[in-house]
Amino acid sequence: MAYYLHDFVSEAPVLSTRRPTINEFFLSNYTLSIYNGCEFGCPYCDSWLYSDRPLNEIVRVPLDLPQRLAVELEQIDRGDLVAIAALSDPYQPAEQTYRITRQTLQVLADRGQPTLVLTKSTAVLEDLALLQRMNEQGLAVVMTTLLTVDPHLAARLEGKAPPPALRLAMLAELKRAGIPVGVALLPIMPYVNDTESGIRSLMRACAEAGVDFVIWDYLHIPNERHRVRINEVLARLGSYPVSYYRDIYRDQATVQLLYRQNRDSEVLTRCDGVALETRAPHRIYAGKLAPRNEAALLLKHAAFRDRATGRERMAVLHRELADLVYAGTFSEAALRESPLSSTLRAVLGQGGTGTRG
Ligand code: SF4
Repeated sequence: MAYYLHDFVSEAPVLSTRRPTINEFFLSNYTLSIYNGCEFGCPYCDSWLYSDRPLNEIVRVPLDLPQRLAVELEQIDRGDLVAIAALSDPYQPAEQTYRITRQTLQVLADRGQPTLVLTKSTAVLEDLALLQRMNEQGLAVVMTTLLTVDPHLAARLEGKAPPPALRLAMLAELKRAGIPVGVALLPIMPYVNDTESGIRSLMRACAEAGVDFVIWDYLHIPNERHRVRINEVLARLGSYPVSYYRDIYRDQATVQLLYRQNRDSEVLTRCDGVALETRAPHRIYAGKLAPRNEAALLLKHAAFRDRATGRERMAVLHRELADLVYAGTFSEAALRESPLSSTLRAVLGQGGTGTRG
């Protein structure tokens, strides 16, 4: 068990600065981290990069975070989405004692702020009624991270988090309550959870649980410290050829393009095979976000599929247009370039005027 340290946010902002571009994975404009430190301590987690001591040793409990958030929400657009999806799990064991996440959701609910929660913990079900109310009055989405449905592999990658079957059952229950649910296959780790059979099993299980959508991205290795950590993970998992990672990463922080294209194509095929959406579908957030956010998401999600299916020029156009729409600086001429133009105009209506041209 971790040590819990009572903390006060004091005058420091609790919300991130507003994103310069919408986050297409989590639909978000702002990120919020509740606890500082994460008792689950998954060895591949990016949070190790930002922690001077073991991530799961000390968890700081920000007792005044809900009050600080209430003040900050007064300054932001009611159509912007806050994602509780960064650096620590909001339903890690500390939540049983302190209920900071529950208080935070109540503040977001009072304001009617669109919200997304990313958690590996089934304790989120204890707030099901609150999330249900939030989604009826606005938008509340719950996502879980799933790397595999193999319980033995999961135990070695994220030992303290609930097993995959429990997380899928949790999503199924949330879905039955009318709450949109998604799965984050984050990260795909080369040689570990990137096999065809592993991905096929995962997607089939997601579809059976009624998951609305899946997102994925690849293991990021931004520095030598993380590389050493990942090598330790690989050594614990079995015998992995060092050259494999050297070939795929080529001393860069991200996987090389060819590997990404192959895996994107594989995951996309598996998702299509079980009718699983590969980004949050429009029906989930239609009319529930500020028009510019909604239109920017439509464009970014289209760009993702364009790129994955080889429509590179269209992908670039949609991605650039997404950022112009988000910033409110798009032109009529730019809108006309997109096959989505009529949908975009309907979404943007009067609230999303850009420059004319
Ligand atoms: S539960 Fe999430 S935030 Fe916590 S250590 Fe695991 S990956 Fe990181």
